[in-house]
Amino acid sequence: MGERAMILFENARLFDGLGGELRDGHHVLVEGERIREVSDKPIKAANAEVIDLKGRTLMPGLIDAHFHAMAAEPDFTKMEGLPRSYLHQHARHLLEAALKRGFTTVRDAGGADYGLAMAVKAGLIEGPRLFYAGRALTQTGGHADFRGLEASHGDYCFCSQSGPIFGVIADGVPAVQKAAREELRRGATQIKIMASGGVSSPTDPIWNLQYSEQEIRAIVWEAQSWRTYVMAHAYTPEAIARCVAFGVRSIEHANLIDAATARQCAEAGAYVVPTLVTYQMLERFGAELGLPAVGLEKLKVVRAAGVQSLEILKAAGVSIGFGTDLLGAMQQHQSHEFAIRAEVLSPAEILRSATSVNAALLNAEGDLGVVAPGAYADLLVVDGDPLDDLALLEDQGAHLPVIMKGGIFMKRALP
Ligand code: ZN
Ligand code: ZN
Repeated sequence: MGERAMILFENARLFDGLGGELRDGHHVLVEGERIREVSDKPIKAANAEVIDLKGRTLMPGLIDAHFHAMAAEPDFTKMEGLPRSYLHQHARHLLEAALKRGFTTVRDAGGADYGLAMAVKAGLIEGPRLFYAGRALTQTGGHADFRGLEASHGDYCFCSQSGPIFGVIADGVPAVQKAAREELRRGATQIKIMASGGVSSPTDPIWNLQYSEQEIRAIVWEAQSWRTYVMAHAYTPEAIARCVAFGVRSIEHANLIDAATARQCAEAGAYVVPTLVTYQMLERFGAELGLPAVGLEKLKVVRAAGVQSLEILKAAGVSIGFGTDLLGAMQQHQSHEFAIRAEVLSPAEILRSATSVNAALLNAEGDLGVVAPGAYADLLVVDGDPLDDLALLEDQGAHLPVIMKGGIFMKRALP
């Protein structure tokens, strides 16, 4: 039996994912896929390969809690008609690019499945760890029902393929139970539901409430029976409040949230995952990249409220996750979410969101999002101080000379 590889990072300035500052003179020993030791004193490890960081920052790999690996472009109605084989090639590019930006974990919010997760695990795709919801559950006419007004039920079959890719229509308690069980059977790490209108669907206004109390509670129960949870797309205070009251743990977007609803989220221990960069990029590039006109109209409703939602969430003490929700070519702006949040939040708050807070949201507390003994060795080396300058995390990973996932170098530009 070969012994497990050991790598010793010496002389790091450490951001451990939990604290609020960098700590000088730290040493981190990686053994196999996990971190074995973290110390402010030199670590002796005779067999380890030593990498002297000379005061560069060492931090946990980033986590994006709202990602769409299969979203090759902004028009979901069109994408549902495209061959899976084609979308998978896009997914590979999108995942590999995210890893190069320092995202060692992403949570897919609809579209990715076990095949894609298997391909990452097998190393066929050099991508982030992939948590996936499978297909999002939507009611007829809901945010993952991408049929236009004129379409009949048969038009949703896309019969050249084996069913829809991003969302599955399920109405009524027995149907949503079956749909949730189907995704859980295929290894979904959480269940995604559509609980309000959205930008990229053709027929539902933003203010539309989706799914009844009975349906949401039934889905939450199915997820909990698998020891996991529900993430819900929701914009308005009313939509968010219903979800939280019925047991949903992760609220996605929440652009229009108000103070009372934010307090309800905090009291219930629910997470909110803003995805502000996608609205900014849809406004800039949506039309040219093919977001349908109806989506551009709906975008106006949620775009303006984005940054204010951060102030409301912060004031209420909500656990704020980090997500991006970017579609297709716009994913290259994934790391711009940091700069948008910096208008309201401190760099340490933002980096904790993208590391330890997101890890807790993913039920991976202690495994991911921290530099600590026992955690997976998902590590970034940063040229400079990201707590002083978050822009170091932009530029497609240019300021990240080392990216490690599970103890394996995914990028190494240091001797
Ligand atoms: Zn959404
Ligand atoms: Zn999404």
